[in-house]
Parts: sequence; C-alpha cells; structure tokens
Amino acid sequence: MEKSKLIKYAQLIAGSGINVQKGQKVIIQCGLDQPDFVAMVVEECYKLGAESVTVKWSYMPIAKLNYNYRSLETLSEVTDIEKAEWQSKVDNLSCLIWLDSDDPDGLSGTDNEKISKANMARYPIIKPYRDALENKYQWCIAAVPGKEWAHKVFPDLPVDEAVEKLWEAILYTSRVTEDPVSEWDKHNKTLAEKCAFLNKYKFDKLEYKSANGTDFVVGLNQKGIFCGGGETTLGANVYFNPNIPTEEVFTTPVRGRAEGKVVATKPLSYQGKLIENFWVEFKGGKAVKVGAEKNQDLLEKMIAMDEGAAYLGEVALIAYDSPINNTGILFYNTLFDENASCHLALGRGFNNCLENYEQYTNEQCKELGVNNSMIHVDFMIGSKDMSIVGVTLDGKRVQIFKDGNWAF
Ligand code: ZN
Repeated sequence: MEKSKLIKYAQLIAGSGINVQKGQKVIIQCGLDQPDFVAMVVEECYKLGAESVTVKWSYMPIAKLNYNYRSLETLSEVTDIEKAEWQSKVDNLSCLIWLDSDDPDGLSGTDNEKISKANMARYPIIKPYRDALENKYQWCIAAVPGKEWAHKVFPDLPVDEAVEKLWEAILYTSRVTEDPVSEWDKHNKTLAEKCAFLNKYKFDKLEYKSANGTDFVVGLNQKGIFCGGGETTLGANVYFNPNIPTEEVFTTPVRGRAEGKVVATKPLSYQGKLIENFWVEFKGGKAVKVGAEKNQDLLEKMIAMDEGAAYLGEVALIAYDSPINNTGILFYNTLFDENASCHLALGRGFNNCLENYEQYTNEQCKELGVNNSMIHVDFMIGSKDMSIVGVTLDGKRVQIFKDGNWAF
C-alpha cells in the first residue's frame, strides 16, 4: 500500500479517532502484523502533542499457547502488574488505540469453557476500573491487515495480494480519501441527522420483519436516544470517533422487552471461532432458544456467560447499501461486519444512550432498563428486504427501514 495513503490513515486515527490532545498519554494495542504502520500512528500522535505513546504488542499464537497450557486457576488471575496498569489508565485517562489484525480463527482448537470461565473470574476484578473509566477517555478501534485474516477473507489469492486487497478494503470503508478528516466531519453530520429524526419520535418499540424468518419486536426506553458517529468524553469534553469505520445509528433497548425470532444474516466470530447460520428467539426480553448450523454450543455458552448475557444491550440501524456491504466482502471481523447491516447485541447496554446519562449512577441506569453483562456481542440481522417500523407510545407508526434501507 502506498505510504502516502497510510499516513493519511494514521492521521485519521490519531486526529479524528482518539483526537489526542496536547500532553495526553496514548496506549496502542496491536498485533505484530504491521509494525511500520504502527510507527506511523505513533508519530502522528506525537505530532499532535501526545506526551507519551506506549505500544503493547500481542501475538495470537502465544495467547493460544497460554490458553492451552495454563491452568484455569492462573488464567483467572488478575496479576498485581495488570491491576497497576488498570489503575494507571484510571489515573491518567490515557487514550487507547486498538489496531485489530487478528486471525478470525486464531483461537480454534482451544477450550471454549476454560476461556469463558477464566473471563468470568477476571470480570468482577476488572469491572471497578472499567466503571471508573467509562465515557471519560478517548478510544478508537481501527484495523490493519494480518496475513491470516487476509487469507481468510481472500482464500484464493496469494497471501501478499490478499493483504494488499484487505488494505484497500479497510481504507475504502474507513473513508480514507485525499482529506479523510473533513470526510469524517461530513459523515458524522449525516449520522447526527438520522439520530435527530429518530429521537424526535421517542419510539416505544421497533418492529422488524424479513422473508428469512425474522419477525421481532424490541421495546425502547422513553429516556433513550439514538447515537451515531463521534462521542464526547465526560469532563474534558473531547470529541472522538470510537470506531473507524462506523455506519451505525444505535441505541440501548429496554431490558425485558423483546419478543420473537431474529435470523442472523452473517456468521459471528466469537472467541476466535465462527458461529454460522444461526437464529435467536426472545421471550420477555430474554434469549430463550438458539440454533446454529455450526458452533451452537458456543452460542449457548455465550448467552449463559452471566445473568445479563441473554438480554439485549444494543439495537443498531445501518442501511443495506452501506459502503461495507457494497464491497461484497465478508470480513469475519465485527468492526466491519457490524457496520455492514442492521444488528443487535447481546449483553451490556450503553448508559450513554440515555438522555443526560451523566446525571445517573450505574445503578440508576440499570433500573432504567440498561442491561448489564460481561459480554457485548454484536450479530447481524440486516437483509435486503428488511422492514422496520417504529411505533410511538400513542400508536403512531413510522416506516424507518424499507427494503433494507432507510425509508426517510
Ligand atoms: Zn453496534
């Protein structure tokens, strides 16, 4: 990939992504796949005035060895060093960039149950740090191609060509043009207009229908708002873009109100494995039945991770004619695939999808119907013929999606 284009992408991540401010600390989490690009991002952060940029490298085959060789007991441990790192994040509100390049199948051959149990044990120890950080720091997830990932997406190409093609797809869908920063300003404005339209109606529920078998109703919160594009940190008031790319307009549904069946339209990559051709049935807000042609056991484990894992945390609307879907590529990566079509997420909801959420404690947000869980897993349900109707408290019906796309 041309260096000039990559520099623009690095500028987008440092500038519009985390929007690093003078004197801030930055942490970059990434794999070993694109070290030259990581160096470009580091440089752009420094140019914008970062005080320090720390890169934390990881390598999936080693993560896999740890999962296979270590005992459940040691995997469940949160070491003193890790705790100190979390505390430092809380104290400094460091910006976080995550450059994802992981192999979607990178953890196949590991024990699902062991990994789930270890994560469950670690969760309550890490949670207080997460709570203290929530909505207070700038973060951004973006992607760079790894060899294994590129091969999975383009299995018929020689690996070098596959990597180049995946670069092209990442840069195209991330809107890396001649001037990506102003491109993103424009894009954020469009998303804000969609949100304003939806928020005006204060919908009580959304009704989904598709010929593939999706027939589903989800309840929305009267205090809920649709969000999309950039966010602003609490306290410091810094505008940042947590996801590059992003196409979604989303809200957090009210816990306990979801009925009917949703049929997934793309496979789900979860814990390094693919769940394929699956569906979820809801009753009283809870996923009560699931089915999958592949890795059904993993899907069942996922919704049993904790009490909130079977409830919904997110409802997201994305046009079927989205740049990502238009590439025709299945990325096997949630950052891209979730932005290809309408989706739902099981697990943790978003406090910041409540109006004036900063006035509420976590406990109050929960009482208002925001679901809580250690997981937040998106899965795609958008289809070419999808219809979504919004219904207001007084029964007014508004067509929101028609034939897979925005109806207004
Ligand atoms: Zn989403």
